[in-house]
Amino acid sequence: MYEATIRRSFSAAHSLREIGGKCEKLHGHNFVIEISVASPTLNGEGLVIDFRTVKNWADQVLGELDHSHLNDVPWFRDKNPSAENIAHYIFGCMEEKAAAAGIHVARVTVWESESAKVTYTGTDHA
Ligand SMILES: [Zn+2]
Repeated sequence: MYEATIRRSFSAAHSLREIGGKCEKLHGHNFVIEISVASPTLNGEGLVIDFRTVKNWADQVLGELDHSHLNDVPWFRDKNPSAENIAHYIFGCMEEKAAAAGIHVARVTVWESESAKVTYTGTDHA
């Protein structure tokens, strides 16, 4: 299996419900996102996929979140906009685009700070 990974970032505010401490107050992060797509085979150019394509997809997905108050994004209405749930959300959006191109998302990592990250790898990967 080949994995190709791109890195992107976006800025957003959130407040986390019911976890106690200062995370419940509105605050912001410069989230750094790593998205890995995977394929067991390479295309005719010897690539999993052109990095630019994955970056374009990511820019579409992250553009919806950039400079937003994540608690107001519909997908997070019933969920805490934690790094875990952000990773899950991005994974789902990216998987739709990847599947249409015949590849899959292997993992999405959300760096909430330079020393704290969460990775989501989906539920049904083999
Ligand atoms: Zn936070």
